[in-house]
Amino acid sequence: MSLHIPFDNSFARLPGTFFTAQRPQPVAAPRLVAFNTDLARLLGIDPGTAEEQAEVFAGNRLPEGAAPLAQVYAGHQFGQYNPQLGDGRAVLLGEVVDRDGTRRDIQLKGAGRTPYSRGGDGRAWLGPVLREYVVSEAMHALGIPTTRALAAVETGEIILRDGPRPGAVLTRVAASHLRVGSFQFFAARGDLDSLSRLTDYAIARHYPGAAGPMGLLRAVCAAQAGLVAQWMAVGFIHGVMNTDNAAISGETIDYGPCAFLDTYHPQTVYSSIDRYGRYAYDRQPDIAVWNMAQLATALLQQMEDREAAVEEATEIVHAMPTQIHAAWLTRFRAKLALADAQEGDAALISELLARMAANQADFTNSFRALGRPEARDQFTDPTAYDTWEAEWRARRRGQPDPLPLIAAANPAIIPRNHRIEQMIEAAVAGDYAPFARLSTALSTPFDDQPGAADLCRPPLPDEVVEATFC
Ligand code: AMP
Ligand code: MG
Ligand code: MG
Repeated sequence: MSLHIPFDNSFARLPGTFFTAQRPQPVAAPRLVAFNTDLARLLGIDPGTAEEQAEVFAGNRLPEGAAPLAQVYAGHQFGQYNPQLGDGRAVLLGEVVDRDGTRRDIQLKGAGRTPYSRGGDGRAWLGPVLREYVVSEAMHALGIPTTRALAAVETGEIILRDGPRPGAVLTRVAASHLRVGSFQFFAARGDLDSLSRLTDYAIARHYPGAAGPMGLLRAVCAAQAGLVAQWMAVGFIHGVMNTDNAAISGETIDYGPCAFLDTYHPQTVYSSIDRYGRYAYDRQPDIAVWNMAQLATALLQQMEDREAAVEEATEIVHAMPTQIHAAWLTRFRAKLALADAQEGDAALISELLARMAANQADFTNSFRALGRPEARDQFTDPTAYDTWEAEWRARRRGQPDPLPLIAAANPAIIPRNHRIEQMIEAAVAGDYAPFARLSTALSTPFDDQPGAADLCRPPLPDEVVEATFC
């Protein structure tokens, strides 16, 4: 066959405590529904035919050089420690070193049961597969570190969720699938050999300059601080910031009940499983710190001079809120086309956000329209914007035309929940045109979208999505 993946596997060579060898479970009738040609090229994959892609990315045919396995991990789910999670429906096929020299995992999600499936069926349905495909690729186009989507395949099987649903498999590409929960698994069991092996592996793979476990902690905290600031800047709500969904690489991972804000409100929650709002939009910075505290706790188990290490880890984790705030300020200054840094900037940004919240302003469209007459129309009381704009113009006195800077820092389009839902509904009915159209528009989010104005507007009252499901 001509489909070829230049595997170069490293995780599979680690001790058996890290994973279970596991082949994907074949499916009835694979049908390719999406293939990311640009990403395939970056990965050095010879794409072969659509038929081969369907077979390989459904898990029916194992490509040469694959060493399929399910990884083990643990994690805090909504604050509750679960000592035994792991890839319950995902199989790592292997790794490739891409054209940029980055090692990347290629994983099938929805590939059948594994020893870590617990009560689950090991499968995924088409809806979440397409949501992850579209949203992760949109995040990439927005310049946000993220796992990516290489392929989506319909399985030809029906699976049961709250009703019968078409089954699907997503091929996910990640800088790695190491999570905070990977470290917690070994730390909680007192398997210090594996913990230290994992630490060395993570350092070598992601942060080669990091010195020891505390160096790794410092690097991951910096990456996570930058990441959460980027989420805040585009109005992204992850929805399930459990420690098993916090990547050591600093990539956004596990697109479940995630959502983008339409109307701005800081306490917004969409996820149907987040009943107490633990992962609300404005809680994300605190939760990122909480997750890094769990990573610190796990890494500390292997430290010989425990007392000094606790002190260092505490200092690192305690520095994170300041780091996040600084990254947030940098992102929002750019959104406001502020070329320099001044004392009152945080207050100016917060004032705009407060007025947006009080006036049901659309997050994305308000920022995109700043400095133009359209901006005031986003506010139920347009004068709330006008008075803020006067302050903003005073702050920017002497600086160049803001409009090109606004357009470069504020996307014209984001994957809106109602468009994702409509796209899924169409795909389930066999119509992939909305998927293709949405994907294309989202691939250049900072360009004006004259042909996709409908995809840029907020939901009409009867289109509003109140809750998202995984
Ligand atoms: P998530 O909420 O997606 O981060 O998943 C949490 C855990 O549940 C992970 O160990 C998953 O592998 C597992 N899991 C989620 N869905 C399924 C499923 N359909 N079958 C088996 N395991 C699953
Ligand atoms: Mg997960
Ligand atoms: Mg998930």
